[in-house]
Amino acid sequence: TLSDRLTSVLQNLRGKGKLSDADIDATAREIRIALLEADVALPVVREFIKHVKERAKGAEVSEALNPAQQVIKIVNEELVGILGGETRRVNLAKNPPTVIMLAGLQGSGKTTLAGKLATWLKSQGHAPMLVACDLQRPNAVTQLQVVGERAGVTTFAPEPGNGVGDPVDVAKRSIEEARHAQHDVVVVDTAGRLGVDEELMQQAADIRDAVQPDETLFVVDAMIGQDAVTTAEAFRDGVGFTGVVLTKLDGDARGGAALSVRQVTGEPILFASNGEKLEDFDVFHPDRMASRILGMGDMLTLIEQAEQAFDQEKAEQAASKLGTGDMTLEDFLEQMQAVRKMGPIGNLLGMLPGAGQMKDQLSQVDDAQIDRLQAIIRGMTPAERENPKIINASRRQRIATGSGVAVREVNDLVNRFYEARKMMQQMAGKFGFGGGGGSAT
Ligand code: GDP
Ligand code: MG
Repeated sequence: TLSDRLTSVLQNLRGKGKLSDADIDATAREIRIALLEADVALPVVREFIKHVKERAKGAEVSEALNPAQQVIKIVNEELVGILGGETRRVNLAKNPPTVIMLAGLQGSGKTTLAGKLATWLKSQGHAPMLVACDLQRPNAVTQLQVVGERAGVTTFAPEPGNGVGDPVDVAKRSIEEARHAQHDVVVVDTAGRLGVDEELMQQAADIRDAVQPDETLFVVDAMIGQDAVTTAEAFRDGVGFTGVVLTKLDGDARGGAALSVRQVTGEPILFASNGEKLEDFDVFHPDRMASRILGMGDMLTLIEQAEQAFDQEKAEQAASKLGTGDMTLEDFLEQMQAVRKMGPIGNLLGMLPGAGQMKDQLSQVDDAQIDRLQAIIRGMTPAERENPKIINASRRQRIATGSGVAVREVNDLVNRFYEARKMMQQMAGKFGFGGGGGSAT
């Protein structure tokens, strides 16, 4: 499997101090083979390897991680990126009902998905209705009705005894019914053939034109591997879709389908199905899928911890410098960034006896503010950063203009810096840490 392969590749990197170009090339070759074996489509593999190599060769030498960890981190981040990065939410219509249409091959799991979606939508506070537009097979309607009952939602279907019925007509009438009965989301189940089929594609396109879906979800069995790409392309060209649902992830799927479909069609994966029961379903999380593909959840956790420990170390260094009175604005910025990255303020405060007052000050700083502070500090000359005393009124004006903030903000920053430095020096004096607590400025 991909994860086994990557693990053994990366095993060879252990113990090396630094990544050489030859190491990176050898690793890239192995990752390439591994991805192809996992049924990832070739163009996707190429693109992926290119990014990983560029990044590994770039100046991204982390002080916190060893080379193997660095490669895993890069591979993981690229995987998350290919899988879509952030979780994409369902598009809801401004004027209900929101129409979600399901398309895909027969057996891909559309009807099952209809029930799962209904259950999930209910849990999100919606009142969904299922619509039976698969009139190809005699028992398809019944199957959807059973699923609907299980999910506890209404199913709209053609009246029995009226012959086969026209799926486009059923779709149209279902929207009126949904408005009438105040269902705010309509999930339209459609027919699928075993292979891609012109007539059926046209039927799906006609249903689409009739109901103008807010989302058309391409439902694809993750087990079909390489074929996922051709099928996805056929549905993209024949019906078009706005999102993908991966099913049967509980099977022996190697994850290749997920990687390929996202990358080739450019459409996001919205949901994942991993079983036959209604609750075997979740919103798709690119990061979870990536660590599943990598099979390295534990490794990723270790990497995160290593990075956090490193941040902590830097924070400690900065803290001890603060106490010496040598603290510069650069240190001040680094300190705030380190504290921010560590999350709970308590981590830092644990290191500083009696730092209770500082807590209030630091806890008011958010990321946006740190960005602004950074902009201001970047707008200063090195001399000003080293020795803030020289920042007089005209310098303040220049810094403010240069970094696009009000003079008041520059004043605030400088004052806050002096306060922090004073506080640190007092504490250093009291508790005798940080090497010498000279007089407060
Ligand atoms: P449709 O033809 O696209 O409507 O597919 P169905 O919803 O009828 O599903 C086809 C078969 O796949 C059924 O036996 C389902 O129980 C099964 N199935 C659907 N989704 C999943 C899943 O996520 N995992 C597993 N193991 N089976 C599934
Ligand atoms: Mg079906």
